Amino acid sequence: MPFDIPVPFFLIRHGKDWVAFDTGNNAQVAVDPVGYWSKPVTDAYMPVMKPHEEFKEQLKKLGLTPQMLHAVIISHGHLDHCGALDDLAGTNVPVYIHKDELEVINKSVESGKQTAYIPADFKKLGEVNIKTIDGTLDLFGDHSVIVFPTPGHTPGHQSVYVQTGEGQRLILAQDACYTLENMIANIPPGLAFDIPKALTNTNHFKVMTFAGMHLVPPHDPDWWNGKPLAPQKFKV
Ligand SMILES: [Zn+2]
Repeated sequence: MPFDIPVPFFLIRHGKDWVAFDTGNNAQVAVDPVGYWSKPVTDAYMPVMKPHEEFKEQLKKLGLTPQMLHAVIISHGHLDHCGALDDLAGTNVPVYIHKDELEVINKSVESGKQTAYIPADFKKLGEVNIKTIDGTLDLFGDHSVIVFPTPGHTPGHQSVYVQTGEGQRLILAQDACYTLENMIANIPPGLAFDIPKALTNTNHFKVMTFAGMHLVPPHDPDWWNGKPLAPQKFKV
């Protein structure tokens, strides 16, 4: 039975600095999804996206433009996470991608095939200030925003740990854990490059939640139901 899946990306404020985690779908997906993603892809996932839901349109709600961002972190290169990378073209904003993910992205662009990686999403990759990561990155050096590798769903997937001003500790898992059930029942994501690695992540997430952290599952319609969205402040 078809159902609607939320596609979240995040804006994190640190003092005066704003950081984005992921970018969602490309603007074209709201206008011409079949033409942009191709029919085989939309047969599997038909996007339900309005133009105002696009990355730079969402930034406007907070009075921001892409070039005003301090940094962008990319979980992985899939179409619903890395689609608006072109909004960062021509800016100096550092865009952090795991080195193994960049390798997969470059291969998929070379192949020209429309898969969960859409070559057109990367047509301006050369104009983006890409910074590759291999390991963890404590973005501000104060343990408030930490990027860490969670390979499995894709070879170079990354998640983000956030310590909020209210003292909450969040795990923005993105596709390392689609839904809460993936973690609770140890179910790997529907699409996984390496299932044992994907399950290692969900086991680690489980321990992190036992230790008081909150897991934010990206594609869990029940979990997101009623949650405040931008420009409102996020709440678990
Ligand atoms: Zn994905």
